[in-house]
Amino acid sequence: MSKAAALDLIRKNLFYGSTDYTKNQPDLFVPHKFRMLAPSQMDGFVATLRESLPEPEVLIYVHFPFCFSECLFCNSFPHQVDQAIQQEYLQSLLREMEILAAYGVFAGKKAKGIYFGGGTPTSFSNAELGAVLEKIKAMVELAEGCSITSEAHPATLLVKNRVEGLRAIGINRLSVGCQTFDQEILRICNRKNTAAQLRQIVDSVKGAGLAINIDMMTGLPGQSMASVRNDLVILETIRPDAVEYIRHEIVNPLAVELYKQNPDLVVDSDTLFAMVCATQEWMAAQGYEQNGSFSDDRQWGYRFHWLNEMPIIAFGSRTRSYTKTICYDKHEELSTYFNIIKKGLLPVGRSIALTPKEQMYRSLLLRLQLKAGLDIQQFRDRFGQDPREVFAAILLKLEEFGCLVQVDGSVRLTEYGAYFVEDVCDYITDMALREESELLVRTPHSDGGTSARLD
Ligand code: SF4
Repeated sequence: MSKAAALDLIRKNLFYGSTDYTKNQPDLFVPHKFRMLAPSQMDGFVATLRESLPEPEVLIYVHFPFCFSECLFCNSFPHQVDQAIQQEYLQSLLREMEILAAYGVFAGKKAKGIYFGGGTPTSFSNAELGAVLEKIKAMVELAEGCSITSEAHPATLLVKNRVEGLRAIGINRLSVGCQTFDQEILRICNRKNTAAQLRQIVDSVKGAGLAINIDMMTGLPGQSMASVRNDLVILETIRPDAVEYIRHEIVNPLAVELYKQNPDLVVDSDTLFAMVCATQEWMAAQGYEQNGSFSDDRQWGYRFHWLNEMPIIAFGSRTRSYTKTICYDKHEELSTYFNIIKKGLLPVGRSIALTPKEQMYRSLLLRLQLKAGLDIQQFRDRFGQDPREVFAAILLKLEEFGCLVQVDGSVRLTEYGAYFVEDVCDYITDMALREESELLVRTPHSDGGTSARLD
């Protein structure tokens, strides 16, 4: 089949149906299954958590939910920077780590990756971020080659000695949101970062001995193919260690309002499809890996191990943690998060015990995002069932769409299936939800909904 015909198959069968809907993080999310947890149930919950963690290595995520201003493409603005509230947050975060560590959850374990996300972690000082890292090191040993990433707003990295300071506290990888170099689009999105600034940041980060990722987007308001191609040319001259391209999801009410007033700024589906193809082809040609194509942990250790189902223990408000068998969320409201921690309790608000079928779905969903795909024998050894039988209908459909192949004892994405990994994941998640009930349907993101995927 020609390339054009193969891509057309995906466009018509998968992409058109998916593009109007909110995307999710690359993990299984079954929100209707959550059960609320009272603080008084915490001892029993932590006993379950400990049992669900037989693995010797874990990932640690820490959330810093404060930003300087709201970007139009943000799918959930956290909180405006505020010195006093951030100080209270920092103290609560440190205390939360002490409370969980006191239960012995990390005994004998090592951290394979640490990720400071947000929000804007670098809205905190290097000393404050360093205090968090020290607390983590006090509760869990770091594994050899532990990847320690912090997300960072470009403006914060232009401050003198900021990068060197981050290196000094132990951060070894930075992830910088850039999205585009097109100044008019950035203005509409309430962002300012020039190509010259990014070049300076990449040079200083590499010079300081850290790795750097740049986040980019397609489908931004008013974005054209010419603008995307120009971004790629600039990226080639800047040469970060890693690049991630994602699509703009129209979930922010500011974006919905903008598009209502200026419908001509919406990137139509066919142009967005062409943008995804162009950026993914470029990524492959440049040797950049992201979801759908990770072959090892060199470019993004944290994500690579996450997709290999390493447990994630998250700290901070509104964070989600996963082991292979349970998933739990922290309280989102800062006042609730603060108050529960003040009482010496864990701020867990809700949890799910994943059924064996949900665990299988999660394994399929995560491992299909790796280049090696889902190993059929490993799946059989773990679940006692053959994934080709458990997911026969889904795999058949994805094969018909040209997204999937069975090769060398694995089920994996095709070259073009990997370009549209987000849509493949959406398709699998929809199937998992539909298995629960035909009534579970997603809300189109053009309705301006938030991250909720269900009515
Ligand atoms: S920096 Fe990130 S989290 Fe903060 S407003 Fe912008 S998109 Fe949202």
